[in-house]
Amino acid sequence: AAELDLIEAKRQRLDAQGVANQPLNAAATAAAEPALTALAGSLEVPGDGLLYAPVVAAWLLQRSPLIEFQRARVSAVEGRRVRLDDGRWLTADAVVLAAGLQAASLCPDLPLVPKKGHLLITDRYPEQVRHQLVEIGYGASAHASSGASVAFNVQPRPTGQLLIGSSRQFKRPDMAVEPAVVGQLLRRALDFLPGLTHTSLIRGWTGQRAASPDGLPLIGAHPDQPGLWLAVGHEGLGVTTAPATAEAIVNGLFDEGSTFHVEPFAPVRFATTPRSLAC
Ligand SMILES: Cc1cc2nc3c(=O)[nH]c(=O)nc-3n(C[C@H](O)[C@H](O)[C@H](O)COP(=O)(O)OP(=O)(O)OC[C@H]3O[C@@H](n4cnc5c(N)ncnc54)[C@H](O)[C@@H]3O)c2cc1C
Repeated sequence: AAELDLIEAKRQRLDAQGVANQPLNAAATAAAEPALTALAGSLEVPGDGLLYAPVVAAWLLQRSPLIEFQRARVSAVEGRRVRLDDGRWLTADAVVLAAGLQAASLCPDLPLVPKKGHLLITDRYPEQVRHQLVEIGYGASAHASSGASVAFNVQPRPTGQLLIGSSRQFKRPDMAVEPAVVGQLLRRALDFLPGLTHTSLIRGWTGQRAASPDGLPLIGAHPDQPGLWLAVGHEGLGVTTAPATAEAIVNGLFDEGSTFHVEPFAPVRFATTPRSLAC
């Protein structure tokens, strides 16, 4: 009940952006998602969806005849040119660095810090959950800038499996699945879905999100390397925000009128001294 205000605030934000949503009271929440523990209310977002980013990326590459694609490791980036592992240099009018956390090894002064996350996958079961479920406090946990936190997020898979997330930890650059964090994730999930006690986990997974010091991505021209563009530091939202990132880069490259304000994301905000974002 104490979090109903957060639901109202979220509803107003979604309305302002024209995103359809439907507040549900306690009874409607229970009817929509019977496996949930009794809640005071919820917010349904009918247009929400899930996708697997590597599959979408492969699909996008296949369907555009304008994209020429080669698979190679880049070992250096200098403005408009990149060096491949085999020593060849490639030059272009513009280079977009979108290498996730590894961008920091190509541009060592990029202010990216790893934020470790755990996800769990269950065995296959008949339908237990109908929607992707996210606790309304997820945002606060996701945007914490230090310490470890866990917030409830469950996604039903077409296979009958559930994906249970997620955690955030600073200063844990390793990829080990940590039993203590798995325990925290499960306890949080059981608070919302008590029926999960009868569910077997088959896999735990960790990944590193690339976070910036102010929690916003770096999208735009490199402050002192003409021809180099950055699209990094998206933390836990890089998939959701990928189309907007692409739009911002295209607008910047071709000087098209931007449909949204990109200034907060401009990499120059971290350039306190000349060459402070060195590659
Ligand atoms: C537990 C967890 C849960 C998450 N949940 C969500 C979510 O629900 N929604 C969401 O939007 N995001 C989520 N994310 C975050 C999301 O995964 C990232 O924001 C997103 O993947 C960033 O995309 P990217 O393309 O910038 O980097 P990446 O996905 O890291 O891709 C970078 C690519 O560059 C390649 N590369 C790197 N170095 C080189 C090199 N030297 N040469 C050639 N290629 C190179 C890599 O192989 C990789 O293919 C989650 C992350 C974690 C860890």
